[in-house]
This record gives sequence, structure tokens and C-alpha cells, in this order.
Amino acid sequence: MYTLGIDIGSTTSKCVILKDGKDIMTSSIVIAGTGTEGPSKAREEVLKNAGLKEEDLSYVVVTGYGRSTYDNANAEISELSCHALGVKHMFPDVRTIIDIGGQDAKVLSLNEKGNMVNFLMNDKCAAGTGRFLDVMAGILQLDINDLEIKAAEATNPVKISNTCTVFAESEVISQLAAGVQIDNLVAGICSSVASRVASLAKRVGIKEKVCMSGGVAQNGGVRNALAEELGIEIFYSPSAQLMGALGAALAAYNKAN
Ligand code: ADP
Repeated sequence: MYTLGIDIGSTTSKCVILKDGKDIMTSSIVIAGTGTEGPSKAREEVLKNAGLKEEDLSYVVVTGYGRSTYDNANAEISELSCHALGVKHMFPDVRTIIDIGGQDAKVLSLNEKGNMVNFLMNDKCAAGTGRFLDVMAGILQLDINDLEIKAAEATNPVKISNTCTVFAESEVISQLAAGVQIDNLVAGICSSVASRVASLAKRVGIKEKVCMSGGVAQNGGVRNALAEELGIEIFYSPSAQLMGALGAALAAYNKAN
């Protein structure tokens, strides 16, 4: 049986097809989120990759920020539930999930049975989200995927003192003009995101095992800075950006049975 999970985020659309509720058969990520063609493109792509047709899908669940705008699914489920399901599938003993997406950051606390007992979200401010990294990568003319390598090369990371993205943008431009090396700036930018998210996580209360999900989890610079700030090990899957879509595909399998 094939089930499809669709995660419509603020900046990207992700799809996962699961075979018999277990293994990720295939996935797709399109950099276009809610209110765009992103969701239908991601769906087309994932079906093509799997060599499947629409009628082969037994059940479809949509999740994410843009889920209520999508009418081609059997059910919609909140992204909190889907991220918890997806991450638990990869890391069964997870107790804290830190999800950093394109426009928000969430920290979820799970009990021993894996049920969510608390969560906090920052969706008011771009600092501490992927948006902050996107803006800074733009100023530095770097690809978002290169931030990790640059951060790792830093010898003297710069502290970004402004938390507001707009002021931090001016600060980074001034530092560049003053001749500060890009790798030192990138390390400071990653630490700035990490410190915002760490304070959210501390307010929820950290219980190990701690796992990251969302697109920003792919950035080792942010992961390492967060691990250092919280004094813990942080686990993540290379498919971190797909955790919501995976959770939706798992929920679809449960609903179909
Ligand atoms: P959403 O669901 O809100 O659309 P995602 O979880 O898909 O968000 O994450 C999108 C964000 O992930 C973007 O802001 C992008 O900058 C960030 N991102 C993707 N890949 C990387 C990377 N390699 N390093 C840092 N950030 C990344």
C-alpha cells in the first residue's frame, strides 16, 4: 500500500511516499511553498520518482502552514503532530524536537510514550528562523548550502549583536565593509540563530534525546552552535526537512488501516 504525505510550508513544499507504512519509497522538495504551484509540482515529482500514478495512492494527508489551502487530500493534520510522528519514526526515543523552518521555529516536548505534552513557537520574528539565514546568505552572496562549510572554517567568529533581522543585516554589511572575513561572519550568523532557538528550547525545558527537524537542521553550523549553547548532543536525520511530510505519510497509513 502506498500513502502520500504532503507538507506545505511557508517556503518549500515537501512530499513523501511510504510503502506499507514503513520505508520512505521516494520524496520531493520544491522551493515554493503555500500559495504557489509548489505543492502540485512536488506531488507530480514524487509520483514520477516512484513510478506511480494518482490511483495507486491509498490515502493522502496534508500538513504544514499551507495545509488548509489544499483540497486534494483525504485529511489534514497539524504540523506539530506530523513532525512528532516523523521524528519518532526515525528516533523512537526522542523527547525534544527542535524544528526550524523557513519562517518559524518550534520546540516540542514529548513524554515517554512519545505524546506531545508541551510546545512553544516563534512565528513573530524572522530571527531564529531560516529566513534570517536566507537574508544573510543573500547579503554574503552565498548559497544556503555553503553556510555550513564557511562556519566550519571560521577562526574568530563574530558576535552579531542585533537580534532584529533588519538591524542585523546592516550590522553584517558594516562588518563586511570593515574587512571581517566571511567565514567568521557566517559562524556568527549561525550562532545568532542558535541562541534565539536555544532560549525558546530552555523555556520549554530540554529533555534528551533532542532531535532537530526542518530545513535549517541541514546546517551543521546552526546544529553545532545549538548543541554547544544547550550543552547537549543533537541528533538529526539527513532527511530532516522531510520529517513533516514523513509524519503525514505515516498518519495516512494509520488512517487507511
Ligand atoms: P518551511 O516548511 O517553513 O517551508 P523548511 O523546513 O522546508 O521550511 O525549511 C526551509 C528553510 O530551510 C529555508 O529558510 C532555507 O534557508 C533553510 N535551509 C535549507 N537548506 C539549508 C541548508 N543547507 N543550510 C541552512 N538552511 C537551509
